[in-house]
Amino acid sequence: MMSYATRETRFYRDHHSTKELIDLPRVELLDYLRHPEGFEVESAPVHPRQELAYPIGRPPRTAVLGQEIVSGIRVRHFHSYRSPRLAQFAPEALAAPSDTIRALAQSIEEGEIQWKPLRHALIVFNDVVRGALSAEDRDYFWKVFQVPVFEQFRGFAGELLGQECEAHEGMHLQQANVIVEQASDGQLLFSFLRNPRTPLFRMATNLTGRLAYGRCDCGSSTPRLLDVCRRTATPVSRRHLAVVNL
Ligand SMILES: [Zn+2]
Repeated sequence: MMSYATRETRFYRDHHSTKELIDLPRVELLDYLRHPEGFEVESAPVHPRQELAYPIGRPPRTAVLGQEIVSGIRVRHFHSYRSPRLAQFAPEALAAPSDTIRALAQSIEEGEIQWKPLRHALIVFNDVVRGALSAEDRDYFWKVFQVPVFEQFRGFAGELLGQECEAHEGMHLQQANVIVEQASDGQLLFSFLRNPRTPLFRMATNLTGRLAYGRCDCGSSTPRLLDVCRRTATPVSRRHLAVVNL
């Protein structure tokens, strides 16, 4: 992916002799959001739709919002939580971006929509722009939905980067898709390995957190990302969100 990036993108063209990831310069998240064209490969194929990564076993009847996934009988994509087809589907689990789930939770609390309670799980999609769930988010989602919350981190093409398991001890990293480093200033640096349209390395995310390498209670020993939170209160504006089409 590194040699591809140095061949195909404007930003990495000057780094064609770099052999090691660690020798590439950091990219600040806001610099990327302001000038995505320097990092993008327009001719790259669109990332294929993916299966939903359900956290435990086979998915029950699951509705997915805001993320194009491979739909089947049990897992279906809907454009809005207001869709009458979604109400008919009567999902037992829901997967959606964190801000969509916040909006849905408010609509339910205000009695604005009729919502049949979930039975299994709430899967929350987050990313380096949205940041991770806070303890308050989790409490709020539990209060409204009353099912376990499983967070998933995704890349700019929707590729899975990390997912929470039933032990709820951080997100297991998908090592084929991402490398996460902890910089000396405490920031998490993300290198995206499975996004040929935007090959980005060592992106400084303004997020802090810690990496755990021990065996998780779920039995897996893949590295986990824990306690992720935003380093400063600098909000990312809506205009920037529009640029990356999240
Ligand atoms: Zn685990």
